[in-house]
This record gives sequence, structure tokens and C-alpha cells, in this order.
Amino acid sequence: MRNAAIAFDTMTASAIALATDAGLTGFAFDSIGRYGKGALLRERFFPRLLGAPSDALLDDEGFIDPPALARVAMTNEKSGGHGERSGAIGLIEAAAWDLRAKQQQLPLWASLADYYRTVGAGASISVYASCGHFRTDDVLTDEVRRAIGAGYRCVKIKAAGDMTSDAKRLERAAAALDPQAQWAVDLNGALARERAAQWFDAVAPFKLAWIEEPAPPLDFELLELYAEMAPVPLATGENLFSYDDARNLLRYGDLHRDRDFLQFDPLLSYGVAEYVRILELYADWPRRQFMPHAGHLFAAHCVAGLNLGMAEAAPDATLPYGGYWDGVHIDAGRLKIPEVPGVGFEAKANLFAVLENT
Ligand code: MG
Repeated sequence: MRNAAIAFDTMTASAIALATDAGLTGFAFDSIGRYGKGALLRERFFPRLLGAPSDALLDDEGFIDPPALARVAMTNEKSGGHGERSGAIGLIEAAAWDLRAKQQQLPLWASLADYYRTVGAGASISVYASCGHFRTDDVLTDEVRRAIGAGYRCVKIKAAGDMTSDAKRLERAAAALDPQAQWAVDLNGALARERAAQWFDAVAPFKLAWIEEPAPPLDFELLELYAEMAPVPLATGENLFSYDDARNLLRYGDLHRDRDFLQFDPLLSYGVAEYVRILELYADWPRRQFMPHAGHLFAAHCVAGLNLGMAEAAPDATLPYGGYWDGVHIDAGRLKIPEVPGVGFEAKANLFAVLENT
């Protein structure tokens, strides 16, 4: 598998188990697209947590307080230059959220909704399927058909920013798509400025729901140009890992608040507390414009608990990372998160087997 920018065959990941002496365990594992963070976790962040007094990590009711763990782990870290540490902190915070929700005997989304007093939170969310990672043409067609067959009503495929090859891929995917379904393409930053006008013209007839990450993540000037040129909504933000970067996007990207989509990934970006700060920064953007990146079960809970627009799915449920909880079906592009405490990793057998053995 690959996207326009990278292949995934040598990618590593980190997983955390945060256990209490009362016998509960909170789990977290990395979001996709970035490498494991074991050295950062072991050298800096775990020692700070283990050295902190217990009451610095608990709330008034005695539950673990995930944002407090993130703050303690960030002690003596200078601001800016976020690098990979934003993902390490996000991972710690995520394991603490799983643990807190288990302490409260709530599904994570309900715990988040309670913590942040979310209006309109609920277990039922919209989801879309992410396909077409440059394998063979047959696989592309098959993936799109299977996603539609599984109940998805919005499908995204990868594109390369090359007109000739992208047009063929789009035609192939369109032929496999249900006429009622929406679809989108993801460029992973690969659309060159000199090809952009022609590329946007060529894809206009396909009536895409959005074009994702046409410009490199930190090139706000180019993004501003593409936001002006694009015939359909843009989506971006999965490679912006902090409040600071999200603010630069807002200041300089010139995205359209009622049209474009924001894909910040809480697991890669210092966690939910930072993500909520970003939501507050974008307070005049409708929450439906937020679609967290990566198809992670944790992100699906964030969509439900923070009342966001849509969750991304890696639709192949036979893979540990793919699909949702066992027995959960997608109906007309929506699913209901099961009544399992925490994230519910335990309710996806092939994934939990990996976590248990790690
Ligand atoms: Mg993407």
C-alpha cells in the first residue's frame, strides 16, 4: 500500500497499556501515517508520568484526568517545533481516555461529551471509506464495490496529481460506484503548481465531494491558491499537529468555512484537549466541517463525543486496523458505536489480539 507521497511497508507503530492497581487497563495505539514513538515515550514522557504524584493525574472524583497526563508529560518542553512528540503525547492522552471511560463505565464518546459538555453528541455517526492505495486496477474497483456493498455512501480514493493516470483511476472508480454515493480524492500533497489548473479542470466533471490535501501540509500560500481554483470543496489538516499549526492554517490558508473540511487527527496532535482548543479557535466553523483523519476507533469516538461531521474508515474489517467493532454494521453511511466501556478495542477481536500480544 502507498499514497502519492509514501509507502507503508516499513512503517512502525507504538501501543500503550496504562494499568491501574484496581485492575483496569487503558489502551492506545498510533494513528496511521507516522512512525512509532518508543524512544520519546521511554526517555522523556513515561518517566515524568511515573514521577508525578497521583493526585496530579486525577480529577476531583478520583478518575484519571487525561488532559492532566498530557500536561505533566509536557513538563519542561519548549513550545513550537512540534515534531513527533505531539503523537507521543496524543498516545498517552488516548490511553488515559480509554481508562477514564472504563472507570466511568461509559463508551468513550459519552465520557468525552460529559467532559466537554458537548451539545448534540450521540452514538450514531457518519463514516466514509478510504480506498485505492495504488495497488492494482482490479483491487481499486473491488475495494470501491466492497465499500459500497458494506453500506458506505462516501468513498475516497488516492490520486497522484498526474492528469493521465488520475483520470483513468477516477473513471475506473466511478464505474464501480453506486450512482447515489459521494466520493472524494486524496492527493497527499502531490499536486504541482504548474499542473494544478489543468488537473482541477480535468476532475471537475467527476463532481467530487472534496479534494484532499492538494498542497504540502505547511505550504499555506499554495493552499490559498488551490482554495481559489478548486471546483469543489478542499479538505486538509491531517499533517498539522498542533494548535499553532491549525492557527496558521486559519490565518493563511484562506479556506472557506461553509465549504472546506478540516482533518486534524487528535491522536497525532497532542490529544483531545489540544483538539478541543482547535475547535474553539474555529468556533465559527460548523462542527460538520471537521472530519478527523485515519479511520481509528479512537477518532470515531471523537466524532461522536464532540459532534463532528464524519469519521474516516479503513474499510477492510478483516485487518486489525480496518473496519469497526465486531457486529457493527454500516447502514446508509452511518453506524452506531456499541455500548462498550472505553474505546472498545476489546470488541474488535483481531485488533485486540494484537494489543494483548504486544
Ligand atoms: Mg489524507
